[in-house]
Order: sequence, then structure tokens, then C-alpha cells
Amino acid sequence: MSEKKDTRFLDKIRTWARVNSPWALHYNSGSCNGCDIEILATLTPRYDVERFGIKLQGSPRHADVLICTGPVTLQSRDRLLRIYEQMPEPKFVVVVGSCGISGGVFQGCYNVLGGIEKVIPVDMYIPGCPPKPEAIIFGIVQLLEALKTGRKPDSPISLPQPAFETAGGTE
Ligand code: SF4
Repeated sequence: MSEKKDTRFLDKIRTWARVNSPWALHYNSGSCNGCDIEILATLTPRYDVERFGIKLQGSPRHADVLICTGPVTLQSRDRLLRIYEQMPEPKFVVVVGSCGISGGVFQGCYNVLGGIEKVIPVDMYIPGCPPKPEAIIFGIVQLLEALKTGRKPDSPISLPQPAFETAGGTE
């Protein structure tokens, strides 16, 4: 009985730590690098995603969140799967950009399988080509809300399509 209590207490501490400082791994499975540049911009002092405790991590074994960009190419499929399998549970997958959602502009190419969901389950979609750092930060904050439960969301969270900015304002 007390062992059960201890486990629940430890789970609460783990969830608290994960929500306050999720460690993220970034993987490009075939992107044109546009989305990757926007992810790097969110890490700069200008957007400062570290204020949410988010830390970029080099090893899948220490990561809570996998941030994926680009469509899945035949060459990167196995690596994506291996990285996902190496992450400890509970693990969360965020897809940044239209190519990771559906294949985007690369859809139908001979070497492209399609979106990330063709290979691994996705928890959060951030659309755009590429999404702005503000959209990426907004998506991650939404994910942090889901992390508070300590388990994966029942279905993937999807942010609305971004509005297009024109000379006359936002449409
Ligand atoms: S969504 Fe746009 S910017 Fe991102 S990988 Fe695809 S083409 Fe490049």
C-alpha cells in the first residue's frame, strides 16, 4: 500500500518536472530546412523558449518531446522510428510545418512516404510553411497543458491554419 503511495508521489514529481522543464529533441526527416530555421529562432534570446523551461536535448534517451520537421523520406524512416523507440515513456511528438503533417510540397515524390504520422504517433500539429516562432511557442505551450495529465492526449492537438499577412493587414 505504502509502495503504491510512493509510486504515485514519484509520478507526480516526474510530471511536475516534465511540465516545468520538458527536454526536447529535434529531428529533420526530410525538410527543406525552412521549419528548422524557425525552430532555431525560437531558441534565440529574441523568442527565448527557454523561459518555459524547454531545453534542447541531444539524446533521445533523455528527451520528453520529439519535434519533427519535414516529410518522412525513405532514407530517414528507420532513423525516425529508432529515435522514437529510444525515448522513455511518456513521450510526446510535435510536428512543425505542413510537410510533416501531410508531405506538403513533397507529397507524391518517389522517395517520400508522407507525413510523420505514417511512421510514429503524433500528439501536436503546428501548421504553416514554415510556422512562425510565435506559432511554435503557442503549440508547445498547448502541449505543456496536456503534459500536466502525465499521459498522452487522447487525440492529436491541431493548431488552426495561420492567417496570411497581406500589405493591407491580416486576412
Ligand atoms: S513546411 Fe515549408 S518550410 Fe517547412 S519543410 Fe515544408 S516546404 Fe520547408
